[in-house]
Amino acid sequence: MIVLNESALKNLKNIKLFVLDIDGTFSLSGTLLPGSKEFITTLNNKNKHFAFLTNNSNKSIKEYIQEFKNYNIYISENQIFTAGIETAEYILKKFGKRKIFIVGTKAIKEIFSKYGHEIVENEDPEIVVITFDKSLTYEKLAKASVLVSKGKLFVLTNPDLNCPSKDGPIPDTGAIASVIEKTANKNPDIVFGKPDPLILEMIIEKFNVKKEETCVIGDRLYTDILLGIRAEVSTILVLTGEAKEENIKTSNIKPDIIANNLGELINYI
Ligand SMILES: [Mg+2]
Repeated sequence: MIVLNESALKNLKNIKLFVLDIDGTFSLSGTLLPGSKEFITTLNNKNKHFAFLTNNSNKSIKEYIQEFKNYNIYISENQIFTAGIETAEYILKKFGKRKIFIVGTKAIKEIFSKYGHEIVENEDPEIVVITFDKSLTYEKLAKASVLVSKGKLFVLTNPDLNCPSKDGPIPDTGAIASVIEKTANKNPDIVFGKPDPLILEMIIEKFNVKKEETCVIGDRLYTDILLGIRAEVSTILVLTGEAKEENIKTSNIKPDIIANNLGELINYI
């Protein structure tokens, strides 16, 4: 373990809410990472809150709950936050129920409908939302480009350019949106998800804790750690995913603590 901020390490015992990334932090390609299970057991034993936050806007909460069940870890719907779902909620809070054109899967459209938004295909929408769409077609890209060029509010659920897969990187929301940006010659109006602090502030509010009682844990400097820094909570980088020790030296995004894996943190919480 490398500690860059001694007081953050001492304060770990006072943390009431841990917000964890999933891919590369807790699990990788359907396998739990070392120490993950023990970490959750310790949090449960100490009555600490924890929640998972992922920029993946493709998977549903039910799918995550099932995935965790396979690891013998039982979590409730209130402990999983995805950029897709939080975007639907954010739009509702900020703009009310809206007519939306979504570049996304059937599952994400259903989520937006649940929040009271009207999902339109041929009618004139007020907002265009781009998500990690594995059912992407040229027609959807063309329609979104035309709408954005007409000045409709252009929203991305998350900024990620790629998503890791077992074969290599595949296009995520940011890359899909870049086609529309180039075509319409417009930048997005809202880019939700990590590292925008809004998503974390919504979670902190739901758990009713203070910022100094919250800690973000993740494997990416420019999403997970930057999110924590922007939201002014403590940050822990785990080296089980994307970031390696040498990346920390060259980056100006510095976590408070660097751990080899979640298991290393057990004695400090
Ligand atoms: Mg990750």
